[in-house]
Amino acid sequence: MLKGKTALVTGSTSGIGQAIAERLAAAGCNVMLNGFGDAAEIEALRGGLAASAGVDVGYSGADMSKPDQIADLVEETAASLGGPDIVVNNAGIQYVAPIEEFPAARWEAIIAINLSAAFYSTAAVLPKMRGAGWGRIVNIASAHGLRASAGKAAYVAAKHGIVGLTKVTALETAEDPITCNAVCPGWVLTPLVQKQIDARAAEQGCSGDEAARQLLAEKQPSMEFATPAQIAGTVAFLCSADAEQITGTTISVDGGWTAR
Ligand code: NAD
Repeated sequence: MLKGKTALVTGSTSGIGQAIAERLAAAGCNVMLNGFGDAAEIEALRGGLAASAGVDVGYSGADMSKPDQIADLVEETAASLGGPDIVVNNAGIQYVAPIEEFPAARWEAIIAINLSAAFYSTAAVLPKMRGAGWGRIVNIASAHGLRASAGKAAYVAAKHGIVGLTKVTALETAEDPITCNAVCPGWVLTPLVQKQIDARAAEQGCSGDEAARQLLAEKQPSMEFATPAQIAGTVAFLCSADAEQITGTTISVDGGWTAR
């Protein structure tokens, strides 16, 4: 079903986004990669994915904090690969500090990248999806779209916001063959979480393994990290025919985090 479709995955040069790009390419989608990183590594990722999956793979370094670059990214995807039929709003950043000490620039950046970017990309792709008569929008939210943690004011606000945006998008497309859902991962071991493990290990003078164990013990009853591939599999399911009537909802992949 996904063969020949075009997927735009924001923030796909690392972690969860990269796994989603790989999974959708393996399912036969042409893929537009996006995100920051070393140019040679990104080109190796792009070329490798195209060769292994036998699909067309493009790359854009568009900055998801910039609305004009988001609009250009959608147009560039349409012009070079078609669609986009699937958009996965995944790019995200984190910053941890108490509210009184939270730098305004970090607040603005997190709201821009983790929330507003999804609004701008959705606004740009909906006319194309309506025209094509098919579309899937998957927003990568978080357990923090459903629960809060101290020190994460901007991230929790943005992730709760993207869950709300998901519901509105679903209502506005309910009578079209377009769905919009949010995936809410718990802890997934990616560079974004590794930074938090390293910070905790430095703060407490403990090993990385002990800091990771503490993170899991606080939030994730399974005591295991979810994997990027498991998040990617959930996204692929939401793009499948079985998920046609699933819209406007959240799917948690969080080892039980939000069950308590
Ligand atoms: P990551 O740091 O490994 O990857 C983030 C990606 O976003 C990278 O490709 C980076 O280049 C890109 N990016 C950052 N700022 C950007 C910008 N301004 N413009 C374009 N691209 C930009 O992080 P990850 O853990 O894979 O996170 C991916 C998504 O999953 C995020 O939205 C994050 O909030 C969410 N998430 C992660 C976890 C987790 O435990 N890792 C849990 C819940 C939700």
